[in-house]
Amino acid sequence: MKVAILSESEADEAAIRILIDAVLGYQTETAQLPPLRSRGWPSVRNILPSVLKFLHYQTDTDAFVLIVDSDDSAVHSAEHERPSNQQPDCRLCQLRAITADVTGTLRPVPYRNDLKLAIGVAVPAIEAWYQCGVNRQVSELAWTRKLQGQPCSYTRRSLKQAAYGTDRPSIEIETSYALQAATRLAGDLALLMQLFPAGFGALIRDVQAW
Ligand SMILES: [Zn+2]
Repeated sequence: MKVAILSESEADEAAIRILIDAVLGYQTETAQLPPLRSRGWPSVRNILPSVLKFLHYQTDTDAFVLIVDSDDSAVHSAEHERPSNQQPDCRLCQLRAITADVTGTLRPVPYRNDLKLAIGVAVPAIEAWYQCGVNRQVSELAWTRKLQGQPCSYTRRSLKQAAYGTDRPSIEIETSYALQAATRLAGDLALLMQLFPAGFGALIRDVQAW
């Protein structure tokens, strides 16, 4: 299966593939993305329609995985899943709305199956997933409480510090750490699901439905 992965850093994309492969139980092949100038939010949101069209019309990619950081936006919850209750300040809801709009307009291509999709949001950043099993205080619940004004023992910056030893890591340091963390987490996906049920859970439920 050819799977294209887009996230805010190429280092994270290699790590995410390890997690996706662990869920599927086999190794996926990499698939090409169109050239991208920037991978941060809101660039990812803005280029998403053209990425989906590129993959559908110009490649034989089977599936597309998209992961963004939530930063300080609202954390997705079961309430958002109710009909017509997508929340504009939730990135998962926003990305789902965009993909639904775009895929609804794609013309069928002969011999091409529909592109499979999986969307996840790392709360507040992917380094929080990497801290899973290392720092038990890091979770979606802890961050949701922080957004509600309660004390929290970590920040986005401290998560980066804890992961890489600096909040401005080189791509080599970032990649090496991300791969190491993903390899460890691939052996305990249940814990990652438990501590990050909305943003990581959504991703995994999408993949399991492929
Ligand atoms: Zn939502």
